[in-house]
Amino acid sequence: MISGAGISGISCAIALRKAGIEAVVYEGYDRTADDVGAFLTLAVNALDALRALDFDVRRLGFETPRIRLTSASGRLIGDLPYGRVLRDGAASRTVKRAELYRALREHAARQGVRIEYGKRLTHARDTGDTGDGVVATFADGTTASGDLLIGADGLRSRTRELIDPAAPGVRYSGLVNVGGYARGVPAGGDPGTMHAIFGSRAFFAYAAHAHGEVWWAANLTRAAEPTAAELAMVGEQDWRAELMEVFRRDHGPAVAFIEATDRILAPWTAYDVPVVPRWHRGRMIIIGDAAHATVPSIGQGAAMAIEDAVVLAKCLRDATDFGAAFAAYERLRRERVERVVAQGRRTDGWKTPGPLTRIPRDLIMSLAMKRMARTGHDPNHWIYEHHIDWDEPARQSG
Ligand SMILES: Cc1cc2nc3c(=O)[nH]c(=O)nc-3n(C[C@H](O)[C@H](O)[C@H](O)COP(=O)(O)OP(=O)(O)OC[C@H]3O[C@@H](n4cnc5c(N)ncnc54)[C@H](O)[C@@H]3O)c2cc1C
Repeated sequence: MISGAGISGISCAIALRKAGIEAVVYEGYDRTADDVGAFLTLAVNALDALRALDFDVRRLGFETPRIRLTSASGRLIGDLPYGRVLRDGAASRTVKRAELYRALREHAARQGVRIEYGKRLTHARDTGDTGDGVVATFADGTTASGDLLIGADGLRSRTRELIDPAAPGVRYSGLVNVGGYARGVPAGGDPGTMHAIFGSRAFFAYAAHAHGEVWWAANLTRAAEPTAAELAMVGEQDWRAELMEVFRRDHGPAVAFIEATDRILAPWTAYDVPVVPRWHRGRMIIIGDAAHATVPSIGQGAAMAIEDAVVLAKCLRDATDFGAAFAAYERLRRERVERVVAQGRRTDGWKTPGPLTRIPRDLIMSLAMKRMARTGHDPNHWIYEHHIDWDEPARQSG
């Protein structure tokens, strides 16, 4: 059983199916259509992991092979590749989140994966040595059973709590994200370049689709974490007015894009989940954001979720029993994902400087970019160059 039909849950079900293991996915929401929602970038390591699922992402979104960083005054800080291009020419790709979910679910359905909606996990009982698996209880009062329970239930994972009631929860990043899709305004520059503007009061990123639409997102600083109710009380026009005010003095097209956006997307608060000491207990395990969410700034949450899903399926395919598979999975994944979460937090720090630290920040970033250009060494290369060989047996020890 898998709880959660998000990126990690669906990916895991597809990978397990490929490994000859059947899994039913139980999703808390009772609808199959997702909102338009925001976009995300699948870095090349995510594309590499998707290969193991035989999932072709090329009909979604557009390629974003480069990132161009500029300051509030329009000064170029750096222009660098968004990870290496894969051997077959595939480069990092920016896709609408809802379209990715939909396409993954359709791919899963074609592979024969069953998804049940309206099944919010509330409790799970590991029947231990006497029984043969786990019995899950859902909010609608129904139950289901299976050999294992894989918790792919996201940031506020119920499975994480069931495995360890003392597990840490989400950590607020200090940023609220707002975004949208602008039409009918010239984007300038190359389509497919992700532009990152370190503005005087907030961070703004955008990329232009070859069809002319500009996809953008802004990170607004909020020292105190707003509640969902507080966010809901702020109307779209208020967000628009705040964004225009925040970016008014900065060089760049932010204000023009905000004006050319019909509908500002509902804002979302950014969190991470740093170190979760227990990933598994008995027959239950967590993957994806449930185990180690990273802030969106580093663009790796979905990538880590897909990598987790594929590696866990390989471990379950190759280990002698589920205990050995869970141990091998944790050995293969923990160090990498925790390093990514820590790196994400540092990246966020660059986006929220005070007035006195903004100039030194731009200078330090600029020097780091120049060093990268000179040496050809990208400090994030270890993130992007990760490769999963589906056919190779999962390493069981060491
Ligand atoms: C604004 C934003 C931008 C991002 N940008 C990027 C990016 O550029 N690149 C990148 O790689 N990542 C990015 N991410 C991160 C990425 O979206 C997540 O890391 C990824 O979706 C995690 O996948 P998941 O399957 O673990 O969780 P989710 O995709 O959140 O899926 C969890 C699923 O579990 C379901 N669920 C929850 N509780 C229960 C329950 N009790 N019972 C049953 N079902 C339940 C939920 O409804 C959901 O369908 C971004 C995230 C945000 C918010």
